[in-house]
Amino acid sequence: MISLSKRIMKNSIVISLITVIVIIILSNIGIKYYFTDYVLEQNKVDNEEIITYVNTSIENDGIIDSRELSYLKQQAHFKNVEIVLQDIDREVIFVSSMGMGKGMGMGNAMHKESFKEDYTYLEKQLSYEGETIGYLSIGHYKNIITAKEDNDFIYTINILYVISFFIAVLLAIFLSLLLVRRLTRPIIEIKDSTHNISKGNYERVKSIKTDTKELNELATSIEELARQLSEQEQLRKRLSNDISHELRSPLAVLRSQIEALMDGVLEPSPERLAKLNDEIVRMTKLINDLNELVIVESEHLRLNTSKVNLENELSTIIEGFIPLMDSKDIKLMGQLEKDIFINGDRDRLKQIFVNLLTNAYKYTNRGGSIKVTLTKSTDEAIIRFIDSGIGIRKEDLTYVFQRFYRGDESRSRKTGGAGIGLSIVKELVKAHGGIITVDSELGKGSTFTIKFKLAT
Ligand code: ADP
Repeated sequence: MISLSKRIMKNSIVISLITVIVIIILSNIGIKYYFTDYVLEQNKVDNEEIITYVNTSIENDGIIDSRELSYLKQQAHFKNVEIVLQDIDREVIFVSSMGMGKGMGMGNAMHKESFKEDYTYLEKQLSYEGETIGYLSIGHYKNIITAKEDNDFIYTINILYVISFFIAVLLAIFLSLLLVRRLTRPIIEIKDSTHNISKGNYERVKSIKTDTKELNELATSIEELARQLSEQEQLRKRLSNDISHELRSPLAVLRSQIEALMDGVLEPSPERLAKLNDEIVRMTKLINDLNELVIVESEHLRLNTSKVNLENELSTIIEGFIPLMDSKDIKLMGQLEKDIFINGDRDRLKQIFVNLLTNAYKYTNRGGSIKVTLTKSTDEAIIRFIDSGIGIRKEDLTYVFQRFYRGDESRSRKTGGAGIGLSIVKELVKAHGGIITVDSELGKGSTFTIKFKLAT
């Protein structure tokens, strides 16, 4: 395993090394090509000039005099070429790199030495009045870049490249050190956070500040994860606390009553047994409600969605409630607009409406009234359950949807509720993408409003 900092530094050095080497190679190739083209072009021009000069000299009188030879020698020196003149018998009569006339009359021995091995020669026939009288050879150095200045230039450039190579490596080390610091600090903090999460120390998960986009997203996700896990843990703790609290008291009552019956302290009269049975029924209902709550609160709730005609559903439910309402002399009305559709799970929607109507029934005194309205706005279906019941205290309004919340402990006990119904309703509404709110005035009544997105 290699640390992140070492890896970044190693990579930066390798990248700058490769970059500089590639630049050195490419620019050397470029310079060579550029020079070669230039020099070849220049050679052509030089050749043309020399050939023209020699031809013009011959055209006049058929010979090249010493003044002209001296000019050729000068030119050869100046243009960095070798000029060789031969007569018709291939006798060398002039070699620019040697003293003038030295070559004359030296025969074949001279002939060979006059053409240098590291030169390439261009040969031209020399004619006077239609007859070949000799040969002109112009030799250029085979190695194109010959000038000392040219080589010096390339050498200097390469020295500069080597210097820039060292500067690049130093810069790479320096910059990667900076980068490493910037990157590793948040990564170490993120590592500490995940360690704290794994140990369950959610409160120790700090907010991590970094301007690197991906790391920032990772840090935010980790914080969110810690927040959610801590919330889940608290929920779990509260739920198990609540459950044990809710079950302990009825169990204690049952236990003491049964012990008294077993000890013969109490007579097992039908009324007593009926009370015990009621207590068991209540506990069973509580456990069922809790089970339902766990399902709707967890992510496992799957909605069997279809297009639902709310007017149909609500009117059927209202009709079903009428006998119950009559028994308490409560007037139940429905004001339902037609053709309002939402996408939802019919059974779950029914569960919501039944729960709210049951509450309205429970918390409305004899002779009261309950109204259910269904309207729509541009994009929402709005359902209201309005009762003229006992109402909810202002300070309690925010808690009614919390599980195990009961408006008035003793009063609600009589109604048999465990404070779970509205929690289930809220979760179901949420699962449908809707919202539920409550307005209430103590002693006057309550209005529960649900809004769902209309089906398109
Ligand atoms: P419960 O089983 O106790 O009815 P819920 O979760 O359904 O549990 O309701 C929580 C509490 O909210 C109730 O105990 C009651 O105090 C209050 N509540 C609910 N609906 C109404 C209503 N229509 N009018 C007055 N109070 C209500």
